[in-house]
Amino acid sequence: LWQAALSDLEQTLSRANFETWLRNTEIISFEDDCATIGAPNSFAVEQLRNKFALQIQNTLSLILGRKVAVQFTVLNGGRRPARSGRRTAAADRAHAAPLGAPGGGAATAVAGVPQQLELTATPEHGLNPRYVFEKFVVGSNNRLAHAAALAVADRPADKFNPLYIYGGVGLGKTHLLHAIGHRALARSPELRIRYVSSETFTNELINAIRQQRTEDFRNRYRTIDILMIDDIQFIAGKESTQEEFFHTFNALYQSGKQIVISSDRPPKAIPTLADRLRSRFEGGLLADIQPPDLETRAAILAEKGRELGVTVPDDVLEYVARKVESNIRELEGALNKIIALSQLYHRPISMELAIEALTDSVGAGRRQVTVDQVVDTVVNYYQITRRDITGPGRRRDIVLPRQVAMYLLREETGSSLVEIGQCLGGRDHSTVLHGIEKMERQMETDARLRGEIMAIRELLYTSAES
Ligand code: ADP
Ligand code: MG
Repeated sequence: LWQAALSDLEQTLSRANFETWLRNTEIISFEDDCATIGAPNSFAVEQLRNKFALQIQNTLSLILGRKVAVQFTVLNGGRRPARSGRRTAAADRAHAAPLGAPGGGAATAVAGVPQQLELTATPEHGLNPRYVFEKFVVGSNNRLAHAAALAVADRPADKFNPLYIYGGVGLGKTHLLHAIGHRALARSPELRIRYVSSETFTNELINAIRQQRTEDFRNRYRTIDILMIDDIQFIAGKESTQEEFFHTFNALYQSGKQIVISSDRPPKAIPTLADRLRSRFEGGLLADIQPPDLETRAAILAEKGRELGVTVPDDVLEYVARKVESNIRELEGALNKIIALSQLYHRPISMELAIEALTDSVGAGRRQVTVDQVVDTVVNYYQITRRDITGPGRRRDIVLPRQVAMYLLREETGSSLVEIGQCLGGRDHSTVLHGIEKMERQMETDARLRGEIMAIRELLYTSAES
C-alpha cells in the first residue's frame, strides 16, 4: 500500500520535497482505516504533518477507495538507509553545527550537547537569557564598552545617554545590549525595557503606517524606560524610519529615558545616516569593541566550556584561540564543533580531537560543491526559480530562500560576500552580510529554519555525489 502511495506522491510532489521528506518513510501500521507513517526523525514528522498530511491522506484514500486517516511518528532505531561516506560527512557537519541539530539518527548522540544551545529569547522585552554580564568576559578589547554598559544598567539615563556601542561582527555588541536589559530588570523589575533589532523597529513602523496606527507605535515606544536598538546601521538610508526614530529618540531623551544603540561602525562612518541623528549619537558616549587578543579569546572559550558543563584542557583552549582570531561567534562555533564530535564519537576532548575537528572544517576531505549547485538546490527546494532569487523581488517567500542561499554559499563554497552578491543578481556585500547574519540569528531560535537548511545541505551533498 505505502509503495503504491509513494509512487503516486513521487509524481505529484517536487523531487526535492519527495526525496527529503518521503523517501525514507515507512508504513508502520494500518488499522481501522488509520495509517501510521514513520519518518526518521521528529523534524521530518513535523514537516510531514504540517505540509504533506493532506496530500498523503488523499493519496491513500484514492488508492483504497475510501476515506482514511493518517498519523505520523518517529521511526525508532534510526532505520535510515545506509549512507555513503561523503554524505555522512555532510550529515556530521550539520550535526556538529554550533546549534545542535533537530532530530536525525546521529543527532541523538548530540542531544547531550547542553541545552543552552537551544534557548530562545523571551518575547516581551526580547532578551535572550544567555546574554548576561556574568557570562561576558572582559578584556582590554571591550573594557570601555563593558563598563559603560554596566553603568547604564545601574543608573539609566544618568551619564551615558545615548550609549553607542560599535564594533565588528560577532564581538559581543548584542550580548552587551541584552545584558544591560537583564541587569536593569533585576534591579528594578518595574522598568519598561525593550530590545529590538533595527530591522524589527523598521518592520513595526512599516506595519503601523500600513494599518494607520502610527500613534500606537509612537506611544508604545515613547513609554519605554530603556530602549536598545541593535545594528542601527541597517536603518541608515531608510529615510522615513530614520525620521521616526529621530522623533522617538528625542521624546525618550527629553523625558529622561535611556537609549542604547549598537552598530558595526561609528556614526561618522555611516554615510547615509541623517546628520541630526549622527550628532545625537555623538552627543552621548561612543564605546568601541575591538577583536579580542589571544588571552581574552582563551578566557572566552574557557567560559563557554564552563557554561556548557565540559572541561576543556588548556592546550585545546589555546589551540582554538590561536586558530580562530577574528570573531567570537566563530570561536564558539569551533568549540561547539569539538564538543559535538567528542560526544558523537565518545572521545575525550583532546588536542588530537581538536585538530581533527578544526582541520576538517576547512575543507580537507569535504566534497566541494559549486556556487551553481548551491543556488540550484535552494531554488528547487523552495520551488522557486533562479530568476526569483536573482531578481529584485522582496516577497517573503523569495527573500527567505535568497537569504538561505547567501548563508549556504558562504558556508559551503567559502565564496566572498562580493562573489555571493554577484551570483545573486548583483547585490552588494553588505546586503549579503546582513542576510547571512539574519539567518544565523534566526537559526538560533527557529528549529524549522534549521531543519530546512539541514535538509538543503543534505540534498546538496547527495546531488553533488551523483
Ligand atoms: P555582535 O552582536 O557584536 O555581532 P554577539 O553579541 O552576537 O556579537 O556575540 C557573538 C557571540 O559571542 C555570542 O554568543 C556572545 O555570547 C559571544 N561573546 C561575544 N563577546 C563575548 C565576551 N566578551 N565574553 C563571552 N562571550 C562573548
Ligand atoms: Mg549583534
